[in-house]
Amino acid sequence: MGNYKFVKVPAGDKITVKDGVLQTPDKPIIGFSEGDGTGPDIWRASQAVFDAVVKHCYGGKRQIAWMELYAGEKANSVCGTYFPEETLDAVREFTVAIKGPLTTPIGGGFRSLNVAMRQQLDLFACVRPVRHFEGVPSPVREPEKVDMVIFRENTEDVYAGLEVKEGSPEAKKFLEFAKKEFGWNIRPDSGIGFKPISLTGSKRLIRSAIQYALKHKQKTVTLVHKGNIQKFTEGAFMKWGYELVKEEFSDVAVGWDDCGGDPKGKLLVKDCIADIFLQQILTRPLEFDVVATLNLNGDYFSDALAAQVGGIGIAPGANINYANGVAVFEATHGTAPKYANQDKVNPCSVILSGVMMFEHMGWTEVSDAITNALVKTFKAKTVTYDFARLMEGATLLKCSEFGAAIIRNL
Ligand code: NAP
Repeated sequence: MGNYKFVKVPAGDKITVKDGVLQTPDKPIIGFSEGDGTGPDIWRASQAVFDAVVKHCYGGKRQIAWMELYAGEKANSVCGTYFPEETLDAVREFTVAIKGPLTTPIGGGFRSLNVAMRQQLDLFACVRPVRHFEGVPSPVREPEKVDMVIFRENTEDVYAGLEVKEGSPEAKKFLEFAKKEFGWNIRPDSGIGFKPISLTGSKRLIRSAIQYALKHKQKTVTLVHKGNIQKFTEGAFMKWGYELVKEEFSDVAVGWDDCGGDPKGKLLVKDCIADIFLQQILTRPLEFDVVATLNLNGDYFSDALAAQVGGIGIAPGANINYANGVAVFEATHGTAPKYANQDKVNPCSVILSGVMMFEHMGWTEVSDAITNALVKTFKAKTVTYDFARLMEGATLLKCSEFGAAIIRNL
């Protein structure tokens, strides 16, 4: 096992990957980072749920060996840096980790730790399932019709961090180059960002979405893009997606144009323009199962969809490299700093990210047990403040009490 300065490796075994399949020992070492702001409250409640459910499902036969990985403010106080290199090394070595939200300053300061982690570990797929749980308050009439999984490309697009500041020598140089080589007249007082979208990055993301849809017996994969305007980036994403279906999946999947909309029992791969998609998830959500999209679109879509089923307090996420199995599961909301250390907020985003983590590890008994207990807890109207304020007759629970209610409902 690697040599670490701050990370203490507990007694347990490494998760490994064989022929693309995760091999999970009975006492897997799993990295966790509690996160900033409300992160520690949420993590405490979630960890208690995970340990209790593993014990409930397997007696003492299986157990998680938790290994703390430092990131964000805690890392800065313990290791003197917000994002120690050894945190990334430990995720690579131990394959699976789970984290709470991390602070990112806007318009300056350090770049997003979340974005850096996704890029440096090449966690190319951001996977966000969105479904409704009975009893959870929603702003739409039929939230149960929303049942989708978003596959968001995680390493490219305007998120690649390739930006130059307005007025900087770099911006000036670029503007001169653009004028001279391409005849582009860009306003001189512009900041510039680049939007790289590659064939490699697009195809591997769409491939993972198609494989997921086939494995979970879904009917459709929709490629969502703004290719009518951004032809060589978002338009190319769509084109490469259809190409991939023909190249690698022709026996099990078919593109819309090749079947006139009738896939004859195969997986249907279709596409949709991003703005229409935002209308249709409200008006015709049943038409979408798995959605494959680019980085920035995916960020917007997952929050919009989360709102339809109860808000970001309940939206889970995973960042996965399907080629080597390395995965970091995470809350999709931020640190909600105004509620820090009040034991108040909803821990469901991390708890449901844990459900995804246990599925990824092959411990599906645990995922199912957590989901069932969560359903019971919502049905009993025992909820945290965010849902209590929207529900009649709800019992308001603290973050830790909500975790305890899930454990009681096992
Ligand atoms: P935020 O932390 O997500 O909070 C926005 C609002 O969402 C909160 O005020 C609260 O709404 C609601 N909310 C968030 N988490 C909740 C939870 N667990 N339970 C119930 N409600 C919850 O967004 P922000 O204030 O824009 O961002 C704060 C910091 O988080 C920033 O530094 C940002 O960069 C960072 N961030 C991190 C991640 C990540 O680590 N993955 C993601 C997004 C943002 P009410 O006020 O209505 O109660």
